[in-house]
Amino acid sequence: MSLIKTDKVTYEYIRRDKDGAVEGVNKAVDNVDMSVEQGQFIAILGHNGSGKSTLAKHFNALLHPVEGTVFVDGMDTRAEEHIWDIRQTAGMVFQNPDNQIIGTVVEEDVAFGPENMGVPSREIWERVQKSLKSVDMYTYRKHSPSRLSGGQKQRIAIAGVLAMQPKCIVLDEPTAMLDPVGRREVINAVLELNKKEGITVILITHYMEEVIKADRVFVMDKGRVVMSGSPREVFSRVSEITEIGLSVPQVTLLAQELKKKGVKLPDGLLTCEELVGEICRSLRII
Ligand code: ADP
Ligand code: MG
Repeated sequence: MSLIKTDKVTYEYIRRDKDGAVEGVNKAVDNVDMSVEQGQFIAILGHNGSGKSTLAKHFNALLHPVEGTVFVDGMDTRAEEHIWDIRQTAGMVFQNPDNQIIGTVVEEDVAFGPENMGVPSREIWERVQKSLKSVDMYTYRKHSPSRLSGGQKQRIAIAGVLAMQPKCIVLDEPTAMLDPVGRREVINAVLELNKKEGITVILITHYMEEVIKADRVFVMDKGRVVMSGSPREVFSRVSEITEIGLSVPQVTLLAQELKKKGVKLPDGLLTCEELVGEICRSLRII
C-alpha cells in the first residue's frame, strides 16, 4: 500500500467578487495521479502557480479534492474521523520559518506538537531531544529561536514536526527564503532523516540541485503532472523542462552544451563527478 496516493485529484479555488458572488473558478490541481511509497524521497518541481502548494495541502487534509480521492496511509482524507491520524502521519513544513515557530525557547517550540497531541510529559522530552539531535540543533535547545539563522529556524521547524513522529514530512519550498549555507543545512538534514531514519520525504522546490538525490521527481505545470521519473530520466528531457519555464541542474546544462560541440556524453548527467568521469572517458584519459 502506498503511503500517499492521489487518484485523479482535482482542486478548484472559487473566485468571488467584492460582494461575495461567484465570478469563476481557478483549477489549481488538475487530475493528478501520484503515489508515494514508504521511505521514498520524492521531489515535486514546478514554476510559481503550477499547483504544488495546493496539491501538498491535500497530503495532510488541509484541503479536500473537488474531484478524486487522496489516501494517506490508506485513510481517505475526506473522512473527518481520520483527520488527526492523517495530520500526524504527514507533517508539513512551510516556506517561512518565522510563521512556524511559536515558542520563545527552542525546546519548548519543538515540544508544542506532542504536547497538543497529549503525549505524556516524560516522553515529550525524549522526543524533543531526539528530534533536535536528528537535525543537529540539540546544542541550541535553550536558545531563543528569534536569534537563530534562517536555516537553523527551518531545522527547528522540522524538529517540531519530527517530534510528532510522522511517517512522512512534506516540505513546501523550505529553502526558498534561505541563503546557500542555510539551504545546504536544511537539505542535508532532510536527506539524513530519509536515509537514516527512513522517513518518507516529499520536497517541493524549484532549486534543481535539491532534487538530484530524489528517488522520483514529479514535474507540475498548470495543475497537472507533466513528467515523472528518476532525476536522470526527467533531466534528460532538457528542452521540455525549459519549455515549461524550469531549468535543469547546471552540470546537466554544461553537458548538453558540450554534446552540441561534439563531445560524446550520455543524457541526464547530474553531478560534477559524473561529468568529469564521462569527459575523461571520452578523451581516453581513463
Ligand atoms: P505553486 O505552489 O506551484 O506556486 P499554488 O498551488 O500556490 O502553486 O497555486 C496554484 C494556482 O492556484 C495558481 O493559479 C494560484 O494563483 C491559485 N491559488 C492559490 N491559492 C489560491 C487561493 N487561496 N485563492 C485563489 N486562487 C489561489
Ligand atoms: Mg507554492
